[in-house]
Amino acid sequence: MKHEQKHYPPMRFGMAIDLDKCTGCGACMAACMAENNIPFREDESDKLVSITWMRMFELSNGKTFPDMDTCYLPRPCQHCEGHGGHSPCVSVCPATATDYSRETGIVSQIYTRCFGCRYCMGACPYHARYFNWWDPAWPDGMEKYLSPNVSVRMRGVVEKCSFCFHRYQLAKNKAYLDGDRRIPEAAYQTACSQACPAGAIVFGDLNNPEHQIHQIVKPDPEKGNNARNPRAFRLLERLGTNTKVYYLSSREWVRRAGDNYLAHEMTGQVSKPHH
Ligand code: SF4
Repeated sequence: MKHEQKHYPPMRFGMAIDLDKCTGCGACMAACMAENNIPFREDESDKLVSITWMRMFELSNGKTFPDMDTCYLPRPCQHCEGHGGHSPCVSVCPATATDYSRETGIVSQIYTRCFGCRYCMGACPYHARYFNWWDPAWPDGMEKYLSPNVSVRMRGVVEKCSFCFHRYQLAKNKAYLDGDRRIPEAAYQTACSQACPAGAIVFGDLNNPEHQIHQIVKPDPEKGNNARNPRAFRLLERLGTNTKVYYLSSREWVRRAGDNYLAHEMTGQVSKPHH
């Protein structure tokens, strides 16, 4: 019997983070570290050398009481599409250790190819990449909690958020075994989207109208993929990085801060890491 092969458009996985819901609790950061075997050190006070694929930032509107307002902004890798897959980090990597997948839209990192030049870290406008200054180490006994599906990274290589790519591979294998090439929305979710107690993080396929993220963001290819949802914006959108992480807020100052416009109107610091 001849099986009919269905063809589906390529997937473009992305994330929508509602900043009006986020409380800055940091559950996404903790879930990400546990899921992806990210080691921690006794002294994490130097944020330049600590590793957090998902990092929480605190934004302020720069005003004093009673007009002051605060917003927490979780920042994973933005999985930039650029134009035709030319994200900033992929474009500069001399070892082809980072790659834009046309199957999923995910920017991956191939640790065994990386030789640690850190060019990608300089190119990334979102500070989403981290260099391993030390070999990873866990307190005695904690190695039993490591995820078997994620490789640990050695000293001398760069790493970053992968949208929990190992979960995609498991979901894809299962879908294929079940005789379908489409991955159900619930079958592939990132650790941070599952852990968020406020339901602020939604993850899915931007190209699939059945996925929640498509309905929230309403991407419009005819408008250069700009979001049609008036609450949606992307970080530093004017750089043309064409990111797949969308942020949502009803507050205008938050949307302007996302594109760094607010900085010109304020004195002092706009954002600082929140821990
Ligand atoms: Fe690369 Fe940075 Fe864009 Fe992620 S956010 S795809 S690391 S340039």
